[in-house]
Amino acid sequence: MESKDKNEEKSVFVYADNAATAPVMPQAVEAMLPYLYDAWGNPSSLHAKGRIAKAAIRDARERISAIIGCEPDELYFTSGATESANIAIRGAAHAMREAYGRRCIITTTIEHPAVYETCRRLEGEGYCVDYVGCNTSGIVSARDIEAALSAAHGGAALVAIVLANNEIGTIQPVGEVGDAAKEAGALSFTDATQAVGVIPIDVKKLGVDTMCFSGHKFGAPKGVGALYIRRGVPFARIIGGGGQENGIRPGTENVAGIVAMARALEVSVDLMRDVERVRAMRDRLIKGLTAAIPGVRLNGDPDMRLPGNVNVSIDGVSGESVAILLDMKGIYVSTGSACATGIRDPSRVLLSLGLSREEADSSIRISLSYTNTDADVDYILEQLPPIVMRLRKLRTGNYDEQ
Ligand SMILES: *Cc1c(COP(=O)(O)O)cnc(C)c1O
Repeated sequence: MESKDKNEEKSVFVYADNAATAPVMPQAVEAMLPYLYDAWGNPSSLHAKGRIAKAAIRDARERISAIIGCEPDELYFTSGATESANIAIRGAAHAMREAYGRRCIITTTIEHPAVYETCRRLEGEGYCVDYVGCNTSGIVSARDIEAALSAAHGGAALVAIVLANNEIGTIQPVGEVGDAAKEAGALSFTDATQAVGVIPIDVKKLGVDTMCFSGHKFGAPKGVGALYIRRGVPFARIIGGGGQENGIRPGTENVAGIVAMARALEVSVDLMRDVERVRAMRDRLIKGLTAAIPGVRLNGDPDMRLPGNVNVSIDGVSGESVAILLDMKGIYVSTGSACATGIRDPSRVLLSLGLSREEADSSIRISLSYTNTDADVDYILEQLPPIVMRLRKLRTGNYDEQ
């Protein structure tokens, strides 16, 4: 095992899977260490150890809310975007049902499973859910959301839409969707997990009622995230427990993680000055791959997309094989299929764009960030085309044998 591990460990590698998780920032680790070594008190304790931990959370809450443009008491710490999305959707849906008898939720076909699966479950709990599709470039139309709002029986309780999709990086018209929801008397939720720390986000300008994100997507360790809930919106408490986070997310707080997330977000905002460089790397990669490999198509919108997201379908190969061979060259990317219980299902998001099953299976996602360099792009452009040619030859070879 050990020697195998050593073998696999590359001294040089290109991490191009930033949409899965971002490298943990040294600044975030530095910031959290005191809360692991010394200030490990329970923030709910009244003594000095507890008060120090509580003050750290208060400080982190102020710094993060200042960055995303909300009030500190509108921000709740959670274990990550999945938990935040579950709380946000259920909290809003239950409250709107209780107060106004509204049982319809409007969401999209391109949500992350954190949102999609939560909505699916609510269908079995007496809610109706309308899954609005996107166009061929992966953008959901605000008009279609408006139409779904008008069609909702008894009025919609909630509209839930991803801000930037995690697979194809498309940026959705969340502002317009939020306005439409408000107009229809529904609450709005956006999953901003791919956007916070990557592009500037001002939640008040977006106009949504609730929003979630996860620290590890921008340099904090895994297991910490947040939920914004606009002051005064109807919201039901979903999790029973102590009174932490105003009862919205009871349970002893991840103090060190929260402190790390605040620091990582500050550093990320600073690094956004680098966004044009990331965008240029993305576009050079798209151009280079399209030029070097026949039968490569970009999935998603070329302009309305995250600065680091490249998602391509490559004719005649499986994305999984490409990703495995890239891994052997020290290039880490993702595929367009999600592995559920060992069976690979084609990506629901890619199918929503109108891709065939085969096209969806042939896709890979390369997600860049400020940590990547031009040399990384050169290396990918050098390694990827021969891998595709080899796989295509193998496939033709197998075919000839049959
Ligand atoms: C990563 C991600 C999530 C889930 O975040 P966790 O930290 O795994 O809970 C939800 N939505 C989007 C868009 C994501 O990219």
